[in-house]
Amino acid sequence: MELWQIKNRLRLYKINLSNAAKSILNNQYQDYNTIGDYIINLGKEVYVSVNFSQKSNYLLDYKDNHFSIYENGNLLLKNVEIHQVPKAIDTTFINSFNQKVYVGDYIAQHGSRIRWMPNCQGYLCSNDCKFCEVWANKARIYEKTPNDFEKAYEILKNNSTEKIRVLVSGGTLKNDKESFEYMNRVYKKASDISNKDNLNLDIMLAPRGYYCDDEAKEKSISKEDNYILFFKYLKELHVKDVAINLELWNERYREQLIKRKNQYSREDYLKYLEIGVSILGKDIIRSGLIVGLEPIEETLTATQELAKRQIRIIYSPYEPYLYKDDKNKHLDYRFRIQNLDDDIKERFIKFNLSIEDEDNLTLKGYEICKKYNVGFGSKYPSSNHNNLSI
Ligand code: SF4
Repeated sequence: MELWQIKNRLRLYKINLSNAAKSILNNQYQDYNTIGDYIINLGKEVYVSVNFSQKSNYLLDYKDNHFSIYENGNLLLKNVEIHQVPKAIDTTFINSFNQKVYVGDYIAQHGSRIRWMPNCQGYLCSNDCKFCEVWANKARIYEKTPNDFEKAYEILKNNSTEKIRVLVSGGTLKNDKESFEYMNRVYKKASDISNKDNLNLDIMLAPRGYYCDDEAKEKSISKEDNYILFFKYLKELHVKDVAINLELWNERYREQLIKRKNQYSREDYLKYLEIGVSILGKDIIRSGLIVGLEPIEETLTATQELAKRQIRIIYSPYEPYLYKDDKNKHLDYRFRIQNLDDDIKERFIKFNLSIEDEDNLTLKGYEICKKYNVGFGSKYPSSNHNNLSI
């Protein structure tokens, strides 16, 4: 079995722990007790995020100073590495509003990325993509200010041996002057920090111009010129990676599941991506697709349309909330499925892809990307821990 196939299986079927593995993890990898899942490097930089389950047919064992994985009692893979979460994840500090800030809110689990989501969790993002985890997890609501971000970054920097990347994830902005100006300042600040320490700056956003629509209109700037101004701004800031996630292809799914994002039509997205490539160049822009929610053929059409525009593709497998272990995440569940068409609702509440479907889709996505000579999965191996990639 190829490593990417093992990755798909572990992600889907989870893993059990032998007593020896448990004891090592408890003693040496304290952090894992707090987050409940593991990032395993299967070899050749294939990383996977695996949840623990006693019912799984896969087992992580520790013997002769190394971890191995078993499938139904048979050895599958020797010498796998458990990827350490940085110690800084447990650190807190008090910000200028006298609020307790968790450094862990800024750190991606693999520890090589510091993530700034200034406008999510009830701030600037519309928070209405039905599958979004940020939307569900309202436990820690506080504004993530530039000062707090800088402080969290310094703490991570002093506690990490990894090469750190910076991700600013802005969600879908409200289309008003205040939000646009705020985010432009955030990008500038993130750029200053990244450039000072020679870090890669990555931003994730829905299509937007430099100015909000009303201001662009006042200044008689066309939609296309406004997009161009924004990409030029990103270029000036030395942004190295940009994620503009199309998420879904099917118009009805888009309308019902990503309402605000869909204020920019699918055609607008594609146009926007083309402009982005023409200004930022090749292999800078990537686009995420949620796979397993809409029918597979739609995902493949989206892959084709994006790849031919020279966009790197990221496949994020859909996980229905109903199956999440954390009961708090179910609280808004009824609200999420309100007003969905029956067929969409049916797919929204369950896993729709079998392991064979996942393997086939992985291969097909990879083939399309190969045909257009674009990347499939993240450029950064550890960031592929939760997607389908080869
Ligand atoms: S825009 Fe992004 S952060 Fe905001 S709700 Fe949608 S997926 Fe979540």
